[in-house]
Amino acid sequence: MTSQTPRSLGPIPLPAPGTRHSGYFTFDDELLGKYQWPYFAAVGRQAGLTFLLTAGIHAAEYTGTLAALRLGQALDPDHVTGAIVIIPLLNRPGFFERSIYVNPEDNQNLNRAFPGSATGTWSERFAHHLLNDVVIKVDRTMDLHAGDMVEGLEPFLGYYQTGNAEIDARSQEMIRAHGGMRWVTHVLPGGERAGMLYGAAAQNGVPAILAESGGCGLPIEQDVQRHVDGVLNIWRTLGLLTDAPALQAQPPRSIAANNWLRSEHEGIFLCRVSPGEMVAKGQTLGEMVDLLGNRLATIEAPDGGVVLFTVTSPAIKKDGLLLAVGVPN
Ligand SMILES: [Zn+2]
Repeated sequence: MTSQTPRSLGPIPLPAPGTRHSGYFTFDDELLGKYQWPYFAAVGRQAGLTFLLTAGIHAAEYTGTLAALRLGQALDPDHVTGAIVIIPLLNRPGFFERSIYVNPEDNQNLNRAFPGSATGTWSERFAHHLLNDVVIKVDRTMDLHAGDMVEGLEPFLGYYQTGNAEIDARSQEMIRAHGGMRWVTHVLPGGERAGMLYGAAAQNGVPAILAESGGCGLPIEQDVQRHVDGVLNIWRTLGLLTDAPALQAQPPRSIAANNWLRSEHEGIFLCRVSPGEMVAKGQTLGEMVDLLGNRLATIEAPDGGVVLFTVTSPAIKKDGLLLAVGVPN
């Protein structure tokens, strides 16, 4: 799509070449239409790639949304080639509710709802319209995350290996250009349902990555800026942004398996490890106790690797998420 830049990206109007604008849009759907989503768009005078940056599909992962706002405010069309579109808050229903993990319209995780359905629940309709009306029309996409309100996190990148060499190479190009993370996963988390935005984008032919920085609902400057710097270096590497040369980035280390551990019991989680810590196979990561403090289970590392995130709230439902261990190649 390096020909003429179109005048809209699905429901999002694009400005004339050489200009930028920001505003709100909605989707053509009776359930979704009661919300307005914020966006920024800048179109360069020269045609090129169309890049979609998204954040806030998990509403309390604030570092992504704050980074997207900072990038949107700074967009300068004089330095853009092609088009850059930013949606800083996808989980619009959850933001002011301070929702953790889910969308309060139907209590589903929006980032497990793809590819969605035009006639399904609120989350399924949102996934369907975002994917088909917006995402599949761009050339590259990136989704910003953090640990959720109750998760501490080691920064990492992810892409979904489709098996299509051309798409995978383009996703990997973005991964290599980020420069701010030590780890990259190329598989969906073990034991989790599919249906993530970046995976669905790649499966539909759009090179896509995810970036995780920050957590616990804390808008820590270093975590926000890590997102900002990574996106800027990707844009400069791809030639979308010509304000400065791209920096040579340190490539992240590959993670072959991403094990998400869940609790068999309802109880209190006493976590013994921290995000970023290296653990050995069989090492005790924590224990589950009941409401009298009696041990229910010892949580052990299924493999050696790096702790990618831990749940910081000790209150765990049956089958509740506890932490993730990434196993390096
Ligand atoms: Zn997330």
